[in-house]
Amino acid sequence: TATLYVLATPIGNVADITLRALHVLTIVDAVACEDTRNTGHLLSRFGLNKPLLAAHQHNEREVADKLVARLLSGERIALVSDAGTPAVSDPGARIVDAVRAAGLRVVPLPGASAAVTALSASGLVNDQFYFVGFLPAKAKQRESALGLLRAVSATMVFYEAPHRILDCVGALAAAFEPGRNIVFARELTKLFEEIHRCPLSEAVAWVKADPHREKGEYVVLLEGASVGGDAADAEAERILNILLAECS
Ligand code: SAM
Repeated sequence: TATLYVLATPIGNVADITLRALHVLTIVDAVACEDTRNTGHLLSRFGLNKPLLAAHQHNEREVADKLVARLLSGERIALVSDAGTPAVSDPGARIVDAVRAAGLRVVPLPGASAAVTALSASGLVNDQFYFVGFLPAKAKQRESALGLLRAVSATMVFYEAPHRILDCVGALAAAFEPGRNIVFARELTKLFEEIHRCPLSEAVAWVKADPHREKGEYVVLLEGASVGGDAADAEAERILNILLAECS
């Protein structure tokens, strides 16, 4: 029956594809993907060859209409992104929304997700986490986004583009207490995988200590504000000072 499969692909190590994903990739009529070259390459690693449809952030709306029409004619289609779980800091949500709005079946196929992979190996308290994803690239907007996160007590999860890692860590170090733990999860599942935890005060120096560290893919995790602890006190004091200034 007509189905859109939202199918997670590996984030580095191709062996992380699931058996179910491989099965679905053999039965679908087409694969909607972020980049036809990448996905064509992945499929060929498994001896598969399927019609590919480009569905990236610039054409998602038009593609959504096309996919709905194809599904209405009874096709089965897989939706993938370049790596990891589609529609999580990746294109796909609009397509899923359109397919659901048309009353058609959407089936998720779980698999790799950089955020959850990083959390699992971090040792940070993960019973609550706050997925921030990518911070704004511009310094001002990034600062105000971080300001809003100061009181969050859950572990925070950031994605970052390789060339911006140093800027990102510098901004975190400026915005949060130096004693908070930060975890770098770099090149997960790949040859040069590195998972490093340190106080935020040492984070910039850690990135700078090895030129390789300014490259590669990163998930950055930041320990949340300690409830009722220093951060909460500091925030209360900050607000009190604003109120006192208003009164005088
Ligand atoms: N949808 C994908 C997911 O949930 O795994 C994420 C796609 S997002 C466009 C790409 C970002 O995910 C990268 O900039 C990086 O922050 C993170 N990422 C992806 N693969 C990674 C890996 N192997 N190691 C560390 N971070 C990774």
